[in-house]
Amino acid sequence: MRYDTIIIGGGLSGLCCGISLARQGQQVAIVSAGQSALHFCSGSFELYGRCENPLEGIASLPKEHPYRKMGIELTASYAEQIKDIFEAAAVKCTGEATRNHYCLTPIGVIKPVWLTLNDYARFESPDRIPWRKVALVNFEGYLDFYPQFIASGLAKYGVKSDIHSLSLTAFDNLRESSTEMRATNIARIMTGEILEQIAAYLNSHAGDAEALFLPAAFGLFDDTAVAELRAMVSLPLFFIPTMPASVPGVRTQIQLKNYFQRIGGTYLLGDNVVSGEIENGRLKSVKTANHGNMTLSADNFVIASGSFFSHGLIASQESIREPIFGLDIYADRVREEWYDKDLYSHQAYMGYGVVTDNKFRCSIDGKCIENLYAAGSILAHQNALDEGTGGGVAITTALFVADEILRSR
Ligand SMILES: Cc1cc2nc3c(=O)[nH]c(=O)nc-3n(C[C@H](O)[C@H](O)[C@H](O)COP(=O)(O)OP(=O)(O)OC[C@H]3O[C@@H](n4cnc5c(N)ncnc54)[C@H](O)[C@@H]3O)c2cc1C
Repeated sequence: MRYDTIIIGGGLSGLCCGISLARQGQQVAIVSAGQSALHFCSGSFELYGRCENPLEGIASLPKEHPYRKMGIELTASYAEQIKDIFEAAAVKCTGEATRNHYCLTPIGVIKPVWLTLNDYARFESPDRIPWRKVALVNFEGYLDFYPQFIASGLAKYGVKSDIHSLSLTAFDNLRESSTEMRATNIARIMTGEILEQIAAYLNSHAGDAEALFLPAAFGLFDDTAVAELRAMVSLPLFFIPTMPASVPGVRTQIQLKNYFQRIGGTYLLGDNVVSGEIENGRLKSVKTANHGNMTLSADNFVIASGSFFSHGLIASQESIREPIFGLDIYADRVREEWYDKDLYSHQAYMGYGVVTDNKFRCSIDGKCIENLYAAGSILAHQNALDEGTGGGVAITTALFVADEILRSR
């Protein structure tokens, strides 16, 4: 099978890259082993979380950082372009690259972010939360949402909370096992009559609250359930991310994948790229676990297989490696330097990844592979935790690489 471009990894980065290429007429295949970091995403994307204006903050990052390699102007341009892709894919979110807004994390921390899905609680500044009192409503037996943490997070900024627990017989089956009572399973049954029961409860229990907050367990495939519920309640209604699995993340993944397929892309889910054939400095084809000896060929390839979390990078006792091609990576050689035992300290391993040139092309033993690009969290010299850059790097480098591929023709 032959394509213009084959992308290894169908998370946020692989999908954004694939969509950009397919929108510009390329035949693209994405091979994706399985779940991505999006399944754990909060419903907000970070561009640079350490100052008010992310684009200004980027200037202070080291020159090897993916943003600095693209330059601030291009980073800003891709941060704007993604809005059009998200809109076409029905991923409804808002935010500006020049000014972070704030969202609530599942444990009640108020954190600066770039884009937030429209159904999620967000505010311009922690000191200007628009409600004096909110109603926090959980479902009886649901253990992945902690209203008390959220209430204490809000209390730090003078917002009072009333906590409610709503019992629904519709959850009886799910409640039989705590492993079934997860946000993604709950979201599957949030339709019709159940939404009406929830709306009736909210309308009669809101008291003097000015807004209603619920766990993000609505709208797994699109935001229909969210819109229906909002239309039935009398107060502004917002969702707060839960512990994984994340409904907003899974929804985003599904919507981007569906859009990619609608515009002609091929998405091979549940398959693993295991090796590649490199000839004269170019990657000719890859082999996958499911296709056996049948190779997948393309003019260009993108590796967007993620970091350690998605097995895009593998750490053994002795070394850290990129497992498909054995690409050059940046990592400390001595294991003791990989991590700090204090969980909250700077963790060096977060900055490890594949080494690339200024076009994000990979290399083996210092030799550039001309048609193999890397995008997203597999790239070296980013530290999403220290910088608050995870989603932004995944998105902007994906769009940059797509343009580089088109320019290379
Ligand atoms: C748990 C977690 C939560 C996060 N939450 C947020 C958040 O809320 N907001 C934010 O901005 N950032 C967040 N981040 C940062 C995150 O890294 C980026 O937002 C982004 O989702 C990374 O996308 P990616 O496509 O580069 O990698 P990934 O999402 O990791 O996707 C890589 C994909 O490649 C596939 N793959 C791996 N190896 C192979 C192979 N050999 N063959 C085929 N496929 C393969 C994997 O199965 C996976 O689907 C989070 C990161 C983690 C780890």
